[in-house]
Amino acid sequence: MAKIFCVANQKGGVGKTTTTVNLAAGLAKLNQRVLLVDLDPQGNATMGAGINKATLQASTYEVLLGSADVATARVRSEAGGFDVLPANRELAGAEVEMVQLENRERRLRDALALAAKDYDFMLIDCPPALSMLTLNGLCAAHGVIIPMQCEYYALEGLSDLVNTIKKVHANLNPDLKIIGLLRVMFDPRMTLSQQVSAQLEQHFGDKVFKTIIPRNVRLAEAPSYGMPGVTFDPTSKGAQAYIAFGAEMVKRIKKM
Ligand code: ADP
Ligand code: MG
Repeated sequence: MAKIFCVANQKGGVGKTTTTVNLAAGLAKLNQRVLLVDLDPQGNATMGAGINKATLQASTYEVLLGSADVATARVRSEAGGFDVLPANRELAGAEVEMVQLENRERRLRDALALAAKDYDFMLIDCPPALSMLTLNGLCAAHGVIIPMQCEYYALEGLSDLVNTIKKVHANLNPDLKIIGLLRVMFDPRMTLSQQVSAQLEQHFGDKVFKTIIPRNVRLAEAPSYGMPGVTFDPTSKGAQAYIAFGAEMVKRIKKM
């Protein structure tokens, strides 16, 4: 049965999508069966996996509204070696339309449960907001992965996310935990990065993943080729880091 993880942080541009796509590809390289769930109307994870978001037969939108199931909406990312529940801007409408539906926070959880036996991991790329879509992600997941840049404002806003996760844990999803904080776009030459990174370890202890993702231009270039960095340039430092992060996650789920 799949373990389900949300990649969440309500800030934009912090590396959620890059992490979701490359962790999916890294896990696939380790022979894990992975479904990437694109829960962001921007559809960046869909495109980054090499899927054309303009020509989708069905998407996360239909799945949330109950007019398609995961088995019919999923598509294969040949570039990444994993399956994708794709999204495009239509998904923004679900935010409003779900309000009238019963069990509106649990739509994604119920839909993913039907496909759980097909996968080892499901990875959900959340939008940059604490919205009904993100709430659906948090209700569906066993754990949250929080990507963070090691900069001065890194911790700002983290308490809002942590409080939301606590509330979901208390009221909607008792399985939910923070699996860890992932340091991304790390620049070891910057003293500030080193300092913030050390502070994170001090405050959060083993909630900080061992793997650190460096700033690496190959990771940023890969989406324009419709490929995850991990398969676009497997020997690059960024790809190697995400493969190592995949191995760290495989180890973690054995303890869950
Ligand atoms: P989010 O999904 O949180 O909005 P993205 O994953 O889209 O964030 O990343 C924001 C930008 O930073 C993108 O242009 C992406 O290519 C770039 N980026 C993310 N991680 C790295 C990295 N480790 N090294 C270099 N660029 C990165
Ligand atoms: Mg994104």
